[in-house]
Amino acid sequence: IRLPQADTPAPLTDTAVASAPPAGARSISCVIPCFNEAANLRHLLPLLEDILWATHMRWEIIVVDDGSTDDTAAVAEAWCELSGFRCISLSRNFGKEAALTAGLAAATGDAVVLLDGDLQHSPELIHTMIAQWAAGAEVVYAVRRERSDESRFKQVGSRLFYNLLNASDRFAVPRDAGDFRLMDRKVVDALMSLPERSRFMKGLYAWVGFRAVALPYTPAPRAEGKSTFNARRLVRLAIDGLTAFTTWPLRAVSVAGLMLAVPAFAYGAYVAIDYLLFGNEVSGWTTIVVSLMFFIGIQMISTGIVGEYIARIYEEVKGRPLYVVRHERGTGLETGKT
Ligand code: UDP
Ligand code: MG
Repeated sequence: IRLPQADTPAPLTDTAVASAPPAGARSISCVIPCFNEAANLRHLLPLLEDILWATHMRWEIIVVDDGSTDDTAAVAEAWCELSGFRCISLSRNFGKEAALTAGLAAATGDAVVLLDGDLQHSPELIHTMIAQWAAGAEVVYAVRRERSDESRFKQVGSRLFYNLLNASDRFAVPRDAGDFRLMDRKVVDALMSLPERSRFMKGLYAWVGFRAVALPYTPAPRAEGKSTFNARRLVRLAIDGLTAFTTWPLRAVSVAGLMLAVPAFAYGAYVAIDYLLFGNEVSGWTTIVVSLMFFIGIQMISTGIVGEYIARIYEEVKGRPLYVVRHERGTGLETGKT
């Protein structure tokens, strides 16, 4: 397999000042959401372990097995024989956002690093993240340098999505930033205190605020297997994000209705007066049919938009847990060498 290359490789020496943790901080947790990543975990876990030892902090690696159908749980649980490794098995596939939430809830470190299990998020970057954290950043998030590796659909879709998402708000969700990030304990606690069930994490990170530093990186290609985020899943994620973080579509529906109704009313009045005063017969079957279908279309779209929001309300009101844990393995923090 091809291992990812960090753009800004941090020194891995024992005296690496760059990775000195902030005063008073003693521990770091790494959370890896995994859905069918057995092959990748075999490479990632030893790599990550070496990197965490080199930080001279206490550490833990939390693998969240999101209902995998391959050996992911077995591979992760084998590592749980060693201290510092933990594995949380969810009872089925709940999706990446839920898996991340499960990992964040379990993490005990003074900082938590989230990274994908497919080696796209190069673990070497963790040293740079810790250095930024030591320098006072409360969030250090990795930002893709460019997205040329992605399909045209994903690029255009993502641009459109962020334009719609950030159309009106007091906080902006950064483009090209994913879940690969380090967060201080304060930030993790703030995230965990958010009660909502629809967890569009990229929005929630932005919502909680805090001093954030961006770290440019180039993601490596997926090591093994293939991405589960196909077009359908991405569209669903986008709708989740939009309904969770915007209300302007609802207002847009009212405005569109108003903009169509006022001229329609004026035209209706004109036609009626024309007929009553001048006896002009109403004509134009085609116009009637076309405009009827146009307005019905607009109406159904509007109902659909409102329906999306109502569906979210329904999800929230049911109050079901975000995920169900089958079992947990492994012990907590490993003690650093120093
Ligand atoms: N993932 C997960 N649950 C899912 C889908 C994905 O935990 O239902 C994990 C997956 O194992 C990987 C990460 O989320 O560690 C990113 O997934 P993927 O590589 O498929 O997405 P992409 O890199 O295309 O965004
Ligand atoms: Mg991936």
